[in-house]
Amino acid sequence: MSVVRSISTALALLAATSLTGCATPRTAQPGTTILAGGTIYDGSSETPFVGDVVIAGDEIVYVGPGRDAPANARIIDASGMVVAPGFIDPHTHAQRFLDASDSEGRLNLPWLMQGVTTIFSGVDGSGTPEVGAFLDEVETRGFGTNVATYVGFGPVRRAVLGESGRAPDEGELREMKSLVAKGMCEGALGLSTGLYYVPQSFADTDEVIALAREAAIRGGIYDTHQRDEATYTIGVEQSVQEVLTIGREAGLPVHIAHIKVLGVDAHGTSGAIIEAINRARGAGQDVTADQYPWEASGTSLQAALLPPWSQDGGREALLERLEDPAQRGRIEAEMAENMRRRGGAHSLLLVAPGHEWTSMRLDAIAAKWNVDPIAAAIRIIQDGDRSGKLVSFNMAESDIVAFMRQPWVVTSSDGSEGHPRMYATFPQKYRQYVQQAAAVDLATFINSSTGRTADRFGLSDRGHLRPGYKADIVMFDPDRYRPVATYLRPRELSEGVLTLVVNGEVVIADGKPTGVAAGRALRHRPPPETCPA
Ligand SMILES: [Zn+2]
Repeated sequence: MSVVRSISTALALLAATSLTGCATPRTAQPGTTILAGGTIYDGSSETPFVGDVVIAGDEIVYVGPGRDAPANARIIDASGMVVAPGFIDPHTHAQRFLDASDSEGRLNLPWLMQGVTTIFSGVDGSGTPEVGAFLDEVETRGFGTNVATYVGFGPVRRAVLGESGRAPDEGELREMKSLVAKGMCEGALGLSTGLYYVPQSFADTDEVIALAREAAIRGGIYDTHQRDEATYTIGVEQSVQEVLTIGREAGLPVHIAHIKVLGVDAHGTSGAIIEAINRARGAGQDVTADQYPWEASGTSLQAALLPPWSQDGGREALLERLEDPAQRGRIEAEMAENMRRRGGAHSLLLVAPGHEWTSMRLDAIAAKWNVDPIAAAIRIIQDGDRSGKLVSFNMAESDIVAFMRQPWVVTSSDGSEGHPRMYATFPQKYRQYVQQAAAVDLATFINSSTGRTADRFGLSDRGHLRPGYKADIVMFDPDRYRPVATYLRPRELSEGVLTLVVNGEVVIADGKPTGVAAGRALRHRPPPETCPA
């Protein structure tokens, strides 16, 4: 691998060297493409410069001042354009596209059109332990972006304990550990958890630590949708402490997914969270986070409002509890409190398609049905709204900006159905937080969406524009790059990416997809002695 790379780099350097002051135009290597004269942000936080990026095969072979081009190179005029590493999105729910059997679905256009060239899947504890089979399929069937994945706590716990809320016995814990180990050995980046979600929420910290150790010994990371981002159960500050404890006890880097302080009672606590994380980092702990640039989160009505205990045993058990007057009364009271925390019925926008309430806020639905909002929510849940998509307006601008400015925070979309973040996160951050609010500058936006992310997750040949790195490159028009999707029309492709290159192949040309699916599976390689031969 490294030999192959050094040979091709050497050949490319020879070709590049021969460009200067050469009387007879030399024939370019097959597949040489030059992004010429763009404003280059190389993925670091350094200031940009004007120059060329030369690609040969799937690699970058030159980044620097413009040079004469060889005769048959493909030249893409980048003057006036921003040229940067392709964006890396470390938290996505791209299942619809990963599962798609049609070639267009598999292009993963919502992300491609934002300039994203790599996505992480299996987040929030959702990743299958069958990591090898999953990644093989990504490559065999073709996919628009590169894909890396986690082994997820959800499927691991479900496989052994079902939906049950109890703790595992020794044998069951051993079984769960072996599933995590299997996922790691097959190429997972680490263990992801979603301790907010049932049934993962039933696990205590020690259970998670035991499983995280399996990732730790194989060089993995712990990525978590933490137990509480608000004031639901232990509170967000305690929840961050739990993440730090897991990292220390299991001995691995920890990464907080979509960091936020959710709900009216938690607003303003970003300062305390940042301080706690900075203190841990100062003491030598490896802690980072990702963040999406939106004031509304996306979840399900069920996850947002129902208390976890009401879902112990799964949907059937929940429906039975709702039939029992005493238990229903308790559920309703806790739902009302959760709704208040989130900012009331008007802050909840229901977006699952195909219902009479689609694109309506919960207060309006309740008024239409002439019931109170809790009764309306229960009716929707009873009707089968298990994954019923909810956009929940619950974040304060000042907290969003405070997190965004931290050098340990990277951009993510958390892209999921029904929320514009799936189609528009990267241009949203650019428009809203670079151009309008000036919360971060352009180099920081790009660094936190490329190099910082690649370095954090060990993608050692991506995220920077450097010779020898894989040619994942975005070229966008700084005046036209913008989100189009909105909360009410979440499925609109973004605009302004004129050229996108994935593994050396042009997948967007003149602002339009070329139909090429050039993504690859990115596999973490654990130390060989930690895995079966
Ligand atoms: Zn999440």
